[in-house]
Amino acid sequence: MDFSTQQNSRQLYGRLLRYVKPYWKYLAASIFFLVLLAATEPLFPALMKPLLDEGFTNQNELFIKWIPIGLVVLFLFRGILLFTSSYASAWVSNRVVTDLRSVMFSHLMQLPVGFYDQHSSARLSSHIAYDVNNVTGAATSALTVLVRDSLTIIGLMAWLLWLDWQLTSVTIALFPLIAYIVRYFNRRLRRFSGESQRAMAGITHAIEEAASNNRIIKIFTSQEYESERFREENEKHRRISMRATVASTAISPLIQLLTSLSVAVIIGIALNSSGAGTATAGGFVSFLTALMMLLPPIKRLSEITAVIQRGLAAAEVVFSILDETAERKQDSTKQSKPYPRLRGEIEFKEVSFTYPEAKKPALNQFSLHIDAGKTVALVGRSGSGKTTVTSLLSGFYCLESGQILLDQNKFSDLPLSQIRQNVGLVSQDVRLFNNTILHNVAYAEDAPNEQHAIEALKHAHAWEFVEQLPEGLQTQVGQNGLKLSGGQRQRLAIARAFYKDAPILILDEATSALDTESEQKIQAALNELIQGRTTLIIAHRLSTIEKADQIVVMDRGRIVEQGTHAELLAMNGTYTRLHALQDFEED
Ligand code: ADP
Ligand code: MG
Repeated sequence: MDFSTQQNSRQLYGRLLRYVKPYWKYLAASIFFLVLLAATEPLFPALMKPLLDEGFTNQNELFIKWIPIGLVVLFLFRGILLFTSSYASAWVSNRVVTDLRSVMFSHLMQLPVGFYDQHSSARLSSHIAYDVNNVTGAATSALTVLVRDSLTIIGLMAWLLWLDWQLTSVTIALFPLIAYIVRYFNRRLRRFSGESQRAMAGITHAIEEAASNNRIIKIFTSQEYESERFREENEKHRRISMRATVASTAISPLIQLLTSLSVAVIIGIALNSSGAGTATAGGFVSFLTALMMLLPPIKRLSEITAVIQRGLAAAEVVFSILDETAERKQDSTKQSKPYPRLRGEIEFKEVSFTYPEAKKPALNQFSLHIDAGKTVALVGRSGSGKTTVTSLLSGFYCLESGQILLDQNKFSDLPLSQIRQNVGLVSQDVRLFNNTILHNVAYAEDAPNEQHAIEALKHAHAWEFVEQLPEGLQTQVGQNGLKLSGGQRQRLAIARAFYKDAPILILDEATSALDTESEQKIQAALNELIQGRTTLIIAHRLSTIEKADQIVVMDRGRIVEQGTHAELLAMNGTYTRLHALQDFEED
């Protein structure tokens, strides 16, 4: 996955600043203090001249007494300025980080299933957790350093020019050279920062995958293999970081070398001339001090470009995620009341669908009518498109051609949220949240109804084990229900569907991962769940399918046979063959 589209730096920066805008007052305050700070910068070298010339050389009492006091007051004042300005700018940065993270997360929630098919969760978490920090480096700290240091440089330069414009001009002559070097390294830096962020995402990806697949790794004793893979990612990151470090740290010594060269020249010129301000010892020391004081801000300015480049590289990633097209408008996220309940009549009209980047269509001219309250079983070999039917019915993918009607309403006329509020989904791949049983059954309810949850658990034949748990409904299930058995997790998923009580129900191989004992219980639970709902059931065990009002046999995205169990057997076709093999699903 590669999010970096080359966006224009200025546009990127402009877009970034929009997130700073709400806090501009704080940023302005910070900058104001920085301006004051910068303005007081030349005061120190300026105090050097009278201190040396009047104090040491001429032994002027007044200067000997007041200059040290002046120094202390000066630094006290500057200390306060530095603290307040840093505080204000950090406050803004942290706000911007928080805002960006929230915006990114909310946007992720709006992205279609197709996006998640293509992007690993670890990479996404690394982008939201880490990249955003770099972004604010560019948005705020860079800005403040830029303001403070350029002003400091201006102030010091003014003092230098006032002291001796000729010597200063010699120094300035070196600036274009410095600028050239800085620009050269910056280009490299921006490239490396982008690469480094991608390498970091590779690292988090490796960790997450290794952690979540640790059982497979153990049973394959592939620890060393995985460690090697990790070492590679790790090493890649190290190499890129080093390249970036070379690019960012080579700038300062080079600039310092250039400056020391100019200082050498200056000493030579000053000693051989009787120029204006630098003729006295005090003047000369003051000149050199100011010159030396120029170095840190110049250094910081040259480093700030690294921060900005890193920030822009991160901003590219952040904005390309934000630019991903969201799903169809989800009005209900803001609507507090639920949508009206549908009766549950479903009609697929010549629906065709091809997954992005797939060569063959997963569904081809699929047409099916299901009356409200009826049960339809989908059977067919693995890959024949059964799950795709249910994904389209859940609005997970956009329809390419054809139409789905719910209660005679076109799919495209119904809000996605209304469709989904009316669909319950139980699949083989049970997903639980790392929270309590109650939270998982009454998922996403602010005030879960415990009594309803218990009812749902009873119907799902899950209450019998939940009841036994010391903490009952409040038991933590662990990450994805790790602390429960497969059958228990499946029953929780069924309880969740009971609790949701949607008129349309999708059971996608809800029983295929189970042992026989759990299966009987779950079968009983499912038979109860099906009552009064329009159900699409995908299963490879006969008992479930035989009772369906209608059985649809699929092959390569098409319907090849359709009818009741008896009718289909009488046809003596694909269904009969599948039936003989007991092979509704190649597992
Ligand atoms: P079934 O549920 O009958 O086993 P699916 O509906 O899952 O079949 O898959 C139908 C076809 O679509 C298969 O060829 C499968 O490889 C492909 N497919 C399924 N999901 C995706 C996806 N997210 N991205 C690309 N292709 C997919
Ligand atoms: Mg499937």
